[in-house]
Amino acid sequence: MKTDFTFKKMYYIGAGTAIAAMITGLFWGNPHFAAIDLTFILHAFFLAAFSFCLLLYPAFKNRTMKTVILIAASAYFYTLFFLYPGTWSTFIYICLIPALSIFFFDSLLFYLTLILNSLFITSMCSYIMFSKQSELYLLTKQDLIGNVINFLGSQIILVILYYVTYLRMKRQQEYYEQIQQSERIKTAGQLAAAVAHEIRNPLTVVKGFLQLYEQDSSYDRKAKEHFALMIDELDTAEKVISQFLSISAPNKEISLEKVNVKEILYSVVSLLNSYGLVHDNRIELELGEEECCIAADQTEVKQLCINLIKNAIEASKEGLPVLVKVKRMKSEVEIKIIDHGTGMSKTEIQLLGTPFYSLKSKGTGLGLMICFNIVKKYKGTIHFESVKEKGTTVVIHFPLYRELASREEKRI
Ligand code: ADP
Ligand code: MG
Repeated sequence: MKTDFTFKKMYYIGAGTAIAAMITGLFWGNPHFAAIDLTFILHAFFLAAFSFCLLLYPAFKNRTMKTVILIAASAYFYTLFFLYPGTWSTFIYICLIPALSIFFFDSLLFYLTLILNSLFITSMCSYIMFSKQSELYLLTKQDLIGNVINFLGSQIILVILYYVTYLRMKRQQEYYEQIQQSERIKTAGQLAAAVAHEIRNPLTVVKGFLQLYEQDSSYDRKAKEHFALMIDELDTAEKVISQFLSISAPNKEISLEKVNVKEILYSVVSLLNSYGLVHDNRIELELGEEECCIAADQTEVKQLCINLIKNAIEASKEGLPVLVKVKRMKSEVEIKIIDHGTGMSKTEIQLLGTPFYSLKSKGTGLGLMICFNIVKKYKGTIHFESVKEKGTTVVIHFPLYRELASREEKRI
């Protein structure tokens, strides 16, 4: 809200100054002012139209308004060129028309203005060169080639300017998104740590008592079997909590081991096959011949694959398979998880990784947040390609084990 206010204020100051300067130009030293002839009226009319559009822009700010401003500006500057043939500066204004669209950050408008303006100037120069009445434009005619070269140079500078600004904006946007993502992970991590910590203590107490009862001879064999089962389940819960706590401590010592991705996927797929069969979704594994090893923590890579394949199964339409592919690339291992399920829109993809974001009635919305964290921790990348109602492909890249080791060696 505040940024919008600052933008409006800045815009009105800038536009107001420009309009004031143009109005001064209309009256000051203008020989047509005293006569109030057609030249003066045309000049005043196009100036008023252009100023009006400029002042109206903050209220609409859409592509139509931007186009109208560009047309009004072109009409104004070309009118000046034709009305005041003895003034050299009008040619410069015409050359700079595409610069106006740089402010709008609209690629289509920029290139369209650039092309149309070039066409207009070419026709204008041809007219000046061949028309007899064009003696009026002596200044332009005297050095027509020079003017054309200067025009080309100015347009090249404008393209470079636009391109550099565009790249910088894009990079800034990506950076902003990255910051947002890491902020989300941080908040979720703190939350997870707090909750996990509070749950861990009662769990330890319960587990301790169960271990005591398990040793107690006053309980029969059946009860002891139940105790053992409970302890097993509590162990699993503790493990999950420990993994959860690892999110909140990303700086803690990372233990790297050689993890064979193919082996992990094989075991994960056997584990999840029965889960998929509930809705008749087979999991098809496509493992290449090459060895695919990465440097990571085995349990975490397993957790990553389980979360992603489970999501793929849950999104899949009944009877359609989930495809899991592993490929070794030059310096990376690529894992692809492909489903033919509900798919996601662009906005939904942007929300992935946000704690508690889930569209499932029984979802926790924590799975992907943990996945993003694991991928980041082992210097990998993850991205989602998805089409609504068609399906989703998750692509993960991890540096090859060999690569990572040699990089570490080089650093030493
Ligand atoms: P949960 O599975 O508990 O809902 P996740 O963090 O694993 O939490 O996923 C968050 C949300 O992302 C899901 O609720 C779902 O809407 C969406 N999602 C994740 N993977 C897929 C997929 N393969 N296809 C479609 N939607 C998906
Ligand atoms: Mg999930």
